[in-house]
Amino acid sequence: MPCDPDRTPLVPSRRLLLTAPLALIPSLATAAGSEAWVWLTNPAGDEVRRVYRRGTAWDRAALGAIAVMLRDRGAAESLVIDPRLIEILGALQAGLGFRAPFLVTSGYRAPETNRRLEGAAQRSLHLAGMAADISMAGTPPRRIAELALQLAAGGVGLYPSAGFVHIDSGEVRRWTS
Ligand SMILES: [Zn+2]
Repeated sequence: MPCDPDRTPLVPSRRLLLTAPLALIPSLATAAGSEAWVWLTNPAGDEVRRVYRRGTAWDRAALGAIAVMLRDRGAAESLVIDPRLIEILGALQAGLGFRAPFLVTSGYRAPETNRRLEGAAQRSLHLAGMAADISMAGTPPRRIAELALQLAAGGVGLYPSAGFVHIDSGEVRRWTS
């Protein structure tokens, strides 16, 4: 699915690091409470619904399961997911009331996948495991985008006609397709 306009800033390629030191976004830590949940599904029908952090302690098994969910299924690349992205998804879901899972149509993207994708930014944050394209049954994409903008925790791209929102853990910025 096309995503990420060229205005997306360059982020140095990096391997992140489920072993990275905890780098919570303070405003999200409060919103997420002591037990932080996320509920995700993908077009293949995989589903993850679990606590990924208790207080300041990541649940590494949960992060691993989420990374598998967000993998590039067409590539043999190793998994790379930014825990801050998971925090944003968890906070969004808490704000929306956990009525339904986020359907993630694109998470981590291997370079060859990104190259094949028409409209994808050359330096997409999907390549760094820092972005997810999401929708939620029964919730307008605009509502998800509005809440994400309130969090001011990263990039928010609204694609109303395609019916999804691009969320990333890069610089705070916004756009609409
Ligand atoms: Zn995207």
